[in-house]
Amino acid sequence: MAHFAFVSAPAAGHVNPTLPLVEELVRRGHRVDYATGPSTMDGAVTAGASPVVLPSELPPDMDARGEFTAEQLAVTLEYFLADAEVSFPVLAEHFEADRPDVVCYDSVTFTGRMLANLLGVHEVALVPTFAENERFSATQVYLPPSFDHRYPRLVAAIGRMAEFASGFTFLENPNLMFGHVAPLSVVFVPRSFQLSAETFDDRFHFVGPSLGSWQVAEEWSPASEAPVLLISLGTVFNSRPEFYRACVEAFADSQWEVVMSVGSLDPAVLGPLPANFSVHARVPQVAVLRHTSVFLTHAGMNSVMESLYHGVPFVAVPQIPEQQAIAARASELGLGITLEDQTPEGLRKAVSAASANRPAVEAMREAVRSGGGASAAADALEKLLNR
Ligand code: UDP
Repeated sequence: MAHFAFVSAPAAGHVNPTLPLVEELVRRGHRVDYATGPSTMDGAVTAGASPVVLPSELPPDMDARGEFTAEQLAVTLEYFLADAEVSFPVLAEHFEADRPDVVCYDSVTFTGRMLANLLGVHEVALVPTFAENERFSATQVYLPPSFDHRYPRLVAAIGRMAEFASGFTFLENPNLMFGHVAPLSVVFVPRSFQLSAETFDDRFHFVGPSLGSWQVAEEWSPASEAPVLLISLGTVFNSRPEFYRACVEAFADSQWEVVMSVGSLDPAVLGPLPANFSVHARVPQVAVLRHTSVFLTHAGMNSVMESLYHGVPFVAVPQIPEQQAIAARASELGLGITLEDQTPEGLRKAVSAASANRPAVEAMREAVRSGGGASAAADALEKLLNR
């Protein structure tokens, strides 16, 4: 039996894909301690981990972000540094007293890397989106051509990170957030969806998405016989009342049963809802997808993977550059349409056109499920221990 430390950012999109792996490790008799913020801890505990609660939360203005500017990247790095300053001491104290054999960390949280380095144990990167290596940088894909790498606040933030992490031997590159390739990476995306897949060697395990037993058990039934249209902008980018209003106008009293997840947005701002709509702060997305005909999604990587896993064609409404890259990759593979025209008419046209992608989506469903998921990931971790 081995002891695994998991370290993740307090974001559903980062924690969710790792949970079936936690469950699989626990099922195999291993022990998992999961470190994340309070808002994302419940899932880890449900999956069978012991909680290590970090004082981490997402910045409150996250959903106001759109463009990838140097100012915004600087603010993001400052956030990760401020978070690391309060979280790392908690991690170090907990895991120095109860040493793990392996630290599995979300690829954006450099505190996990620092912890592995401090303890001198194996490190494994958990990648919930496009993976990066020495030859391929997804970050470069997201950056606009005008991006100012010498922007003073950005340079200062990178400098402060380097100072924070000095003393840790991995500091080959002062920018803690980018450019590091772990000896082993578990990628929750299938190789066939990865950008520049041919540049990735066998340090990368493209296991694809998988479902936890609680997701398989979760039930949801449509209220009518009508085909279901699921609409969601994920867990972060929900302050978009104008988008949801356009959806209400587009699909009011239509042939669709519309299920809309709006996060923290107050549904009252949408006005009276048509009878074929139901609006929720959160839906059991995987259970709803089992009954969904078309998914109108912000194209977060998990939402796209869950859609493909269930063979559901989708229309992408990307909110940030990473989601634009995911939407573009899906279009390139004939799996999804990117919404160009956000008017009610444009929404109706895109949603009707999405069904034409069904054959490609169904073919991709097999690829998405053939990466081995949590079981293949657990095999890779066990092999690492037995080396
Ligand atoms: N999710 C959910 N119910 C909702 C909205 C989202 O269960 O109403 C889950 C969804 O299934 C996915 C995650 O939250 O696993 C969102 O991750 P994604 O990468 O798609 O987007 P993010 O929220 O990180 O922008």
